[in-house]
Amino acid sequence: MAIQLLFPTRVYQGSMRGRAAATLNARLLRECRQLRAEDAAGRRWSRLNYPGGYTSYASAHRMHQLSPTFAQLARGLDRHVARFARALSFDLRGRALAMTDCWVNIMGAGAAHSLHLHPLSTISGTYYVRVPRGAPGIKFEDPRLERFMAAPPRRTQAPRGDRAWVTLRAAAGQLVLFESWLRHEVAAQPLAAERVSVSFNYSWF
Ligand code: FE
Repeated sequence: MAIQLLFPTRVYQGSMRGRAAATLNARLLRECRQLRAEDAAGRRWSRLNYPGGYTSYASAHRMHQLSPTFAQLARGLDRHVARFARALSFDLRGRALAMTDCWVNIMGAGAAHSLHLHPLSTISGTYYVRVPRGAPGIKFEDPRLERFMAAPPRRTQAPRGDRAWVTLRAAAGQLVLFESWLRHEVAAQPLAAERVSVSFNYSWF
């Protein structure tokens, strides 16, 4: 007999390495907090839509075009995204897979990202700037879930790739990439210490 593994869902994990990465991270952390201090529109939006947290998603979502620090992060991310695109066998037809959006998320106590995907985008991801011990990771959902109908649940100890939900740990200096249609969420942040990340979208058109 033979069992084929078809149509896999890939999630990429990587890290920014070296001394330069630590310096970049420290600058990013400072700028994320500075942005929050200056971005009244973002704070207002977050109060309504992101209780316990601050996000520049609706107010300053092209940080890679505004700040040399975020531009440096984007250059680092470009290499990872290109590698991921190759692993996905993308034929970009001569176009570039380029960063379109890049925004800041600061999760204080109680802040959560409910289940969502990133429309109008090809590759999305998050870079972790600061992750206190015990802060939540990113949880992905099996994209076939809506078709399962009479499919039985999975064993508790099923291999990770066979589970309906998988949570990947977050750690400062690391990044995660996924195709933008893949639904994901971040559970409520239980800690007073802030979890800081930069999320981004890449598109090829
Ligand atoms: Fe997201």
